[in-house]
Amino acid sequence: LAKASGRNCARLFDPTDPQSSDESENLAALLKIAIGQDLVSLVYQPIQDVASGGFEAVEALMRLKMLDGTLVPPSLFIPVAERTGAILELGRWAIRTVCAELLAQDHVRVVSVNVSPIQLKTPGFATSVATILGETGVTGNRLAFEITEGLEMEMHSDILRCISDLKLLGIRIWLDDFGTGFAGLSWLRLIDFDTVKIDRSFLHDCGTPKGMAMLQDIIALVRNRGHKILVEGVETEEQMVLMRQFGIDKVQGFHVGRPAPAANFQTKRAIQKRPFTVLKSA
Ligand code: C2E
Ligand code: MG
Ligand code: MG
Ligand code: MG
Repeated sequence: LAKASGRNCARLFDPTDPQSSDESENLAALLKIAIGQDLVSLVYQPIQDVASGGFEAVEALMRLKMLDGTLVPPSLFIPVAERTGAILELGRWAIRTVCAELLAQDHVRVVSVNVSPIQLKTPGFATSVATILGETGVTGNRLAFEITEGLEMEMHSDILRCISDLKLLGIRIWLDDFGTGFAGLSWLRLIDFDTVKIDRSFLHDCGTPKGMAMLQDIIALVRNRGHKILVEGVETEEQMVLMRQFGIDKVQGFHVGRPAPAANFQTKRAIQKRPFTVLKSA
């Protein structure tokens, strides 16, 4: 597998590369053994409450290592895991790990976990989540599931049923990367999301008058529908000031904290309403 120059990331496959399907197959094979070989892990990124400055939640993000230790970005392995179905086992592993690794302690109140539509469509998913909650003794109200408006164009009735079962467990449902796909608006009509995460591209484009108008419009749209608003990708203090002016509920981004392993952020600081001290970002 070719390594991208200068970054600790693998260029695994490229659709224009004749070898790309081989590399996708290699990745598929790696995903099958990933949990058993300890190649998969979770890092956590803090989510800040703008009004209080406190940290009420963290987002769990999956990391995959190849056997030589090279990191594979989720943008490469998640689509392969969805295609092969490996996402089902990886997803259950992630929820179980979040419950056992983080929620078993009291420092962090809520952890959000990214969930693929493939998981939501699979019969028995909500039951498997209920089992994990029962076994780890964690209550559902400490979990939020993030659903990305992705390629999944139609909202299947089984997805809606699964979401209502998850809500019965107390799990909050968030809409991730809002504004990046075509499905987001119809999802907003069908699902009562607790929080909508506005994709970071809107904040990054707000340097121009047109970009700023767009950001304000999308905020108004989400707010008028009664959802809490989280803006992703806050990287500077100037952007943070803007978020306070706009009355945004929650923010996430490198300015607030980078994703880090559970052991690497000092959770006590979160209680003191100060930023996480990230010793080593991942
Ligand atoms: P996401 O859920 O929207 O996660 C946010 C991504 O933005 C993360 O990338 C995070 O590291 C990055 N990020 C956070 N703050 C900033 C910032 O200020 N600036 C910039 N430039 N980037 C920032 P990551 O970890 O590479 O994850 C990419 C995507 O992979 C996630 O997007 C999510 O859709 C997916 N993903 C990650 N873990 C899982 C998982 O366990 N299950 C599923 N189904 N998908 C996952
Ligand atoms: Mg997310
Ligand atoms: Mg996102
Ligand atoms: Mg994203």
